[in-house]
Amino acid sequence: AEWIVGTQNGQGAHSVELAKRHLVQPWPEAGEIGSEARALIEGGEGIYITDGEGKRLIDGPAGMWCVNVGHRREELARVMYDQAMQLSYNTPWYTMNAPSAVLAERIAGHAPGDLSHVFYTTGGSTAVESALRFMQFYNNVRGRPEKKLILSRGGAYHGSTYLSASLNGRPRDRDWMNGADDLVVKLSSPNAFRRPAGMTVEAFADGLVAEFEETVQRLGADRIGAFVGEPVQASGGVVLPPGNYLQRIRGICRDNDILFIADEVVTAFGRLGHVFASGEVFGLDPDMITFAKGVTSGYFPLGGMIVSDRLLAELRRSNHPTAMYAHGLTYTSHPVGCAVALANLDLLENGVLEHTRAMAPYFQAQLKTLEELPLVGEVRGIGLMACVECVADRESRNPLQLDKNVGERIDAHCHELGLLVRPLINMCVMSPPLVITKEQIDDMVGILREGISRTMDDLRKEGVWRG
Ligand code: PLP
Repeated sequence: AEWIVGTQNGQGAHSVELAKRHLVQPWPEAGEIGSEARALIEGGEGIYITDGEGKRLIDGPAGMWCVNVGHRREELARVMYDQAMQLSYNTPWYTMNAPSAVLAERIAGHAPGDLSHVFYTTGGSTAVESALRFMQFYNNVRGRPEKKLILSRGGAYHGSTYLSASLNGRPRDRDWMNGADDLVVKLSSPNAFRRPAGMTVEAFADGLVAEFEETVQRLGADRIGAFVGEPVQASGGVVLPPGNYLQRIRGICRDNDILFIADEVVTAFGRLGHVFASGEVFGLDPDMITFAKGVTSGYFPLGGMIVSDRLLAELRRSNHPTAMYAHGLTYTSHPVGCAVALANLDLLENGVLEHTRAMAPYFQAQLKTLEELPLVGEVRGIGLMACVECVADRESRNPLQLDKNVGERIDAHCHELGLLVRPLINMCVMSPPLVITKEQIDDMVGILREGISRTMDDLRKEGVWRG
């Protein structure tokens, strides 16, 4: 089709013009909404993408942390074609298809504890939304309609539907947007880099646990339905849980009949070298896990929640056998999505997970060398996800003015040099396709080093920084 090719036939430049006239792109500012010219991406192969000028770039964020097995995998494209030719769609309201059931069994096999059943959605926001509506239903059926509050944290990102977005806790997420504030209680961000000066990480973790306990005391366990947390906060800046604080919170949730929902939209399907990180990396057994993104490596919009057998058995035994979980999406259990997810899981199980675990230490060590640069306050990460956090001043970890656009400046230099960066205010997040090799990691880190160096030169020239 003519619109698949860009530069070769002039469609590329034309499409940017059309976008400026007709496209509302995600997360725009009011002053530019409906008129933005974002960088056109025309193609992808392996860890690379090609922009509208034909320039090849390393896909630093793997799309949106999702293209886990890399671009242009013929195995995945073929499965989508074959499944669409076999059965492109069936209603999940009163029929079912084979790929969704086979995939559910395989997902349950990888999930920790007694997580046994999968409900499919169209992505991460709808996965979180489904898990929260399940919690509400579960507590209504159990005769506990007052047990509905949801605990979330600063730095969290859980989605862009109304209830999932109400959980978000990053700067700017909620400045101009409404949310279900009567249902959500925010706890502190677990970001140890921003802990008070002089405090140990252990004391910081103890403080987070104490805050959690106090919150349960203050609000009453009988009013709290769920805690939702990313095992590693992703777009909050790759924030690792300090010490064993997440395990301790899991324990408090269990003791107080509060559902522990691990949002693994980013951490699942290989990012940390395992299908799920909750159990294998963090020793957690959540009541529910939400997933999306890497489940299809971004080839098809699919997400879901995995729910424990215990919760479902309780519902089946309840006094309200006809109570309806009135929740389902037209594209729940989509056959094409589930088929490509199965092929993607084959790739993960047959080498990609192992490769990720082998590459992760090298990836982290190479990125860590960027801490030599005076603009870099910290490089932190796990598996194949990392964040380079820039600061105006290392001693005070000053997150002032300079931080506002430093990520974008670095991104602009890196784009010139052949790397797409995901800029987040003062941070650059790196989460490349998992198939990245050592040589490609060297290239990526080399470009990032040069991009940061050029940014430092600019800032010095402009007289806004003296590092
Ligand atoms: N949860 C987490 C942890 C995410 O990072 C995201 C998206 O980045 C979401 C949920 C929302 O997923 P989606 O954008 O697929 O709706």
